[in-house]
Amino acid sequence: MFLKGPEKYVAEVENLFVCPVCLGEKHKKEGVALKFQDRELYFCRCPHCAREFSKNPEYYLRRLEGKEPFSGVFGSDFQCC
Ligand SMILES: [Zn+2]
Repeated sequence: MFLKGPEKYVAEVENLFVCPVCLGEKHKKEGVALKFQDRELYFCRCPHCAREFSKNPEYYLRRLEGKEPFSGVFGSDFQCC
């Protein structure tokens, strides 16, 4: 289905983001944009995620790219607010 009409499916998700810390998926209208270096990153609105990100931004960016081992949001190495 995607290959027959990818534009439709891309349009459905183009305004979505994944919070780098809690990995929650939201619409950009429901998040907050913060500048990091020359990038604009979207976070969920909880203060925990932005604070945690600022402690180790490179780790969270690498995790988003799948370059860090991660056992999932219910794994033992994850804490959220
Ligand atoms: Zn979050």
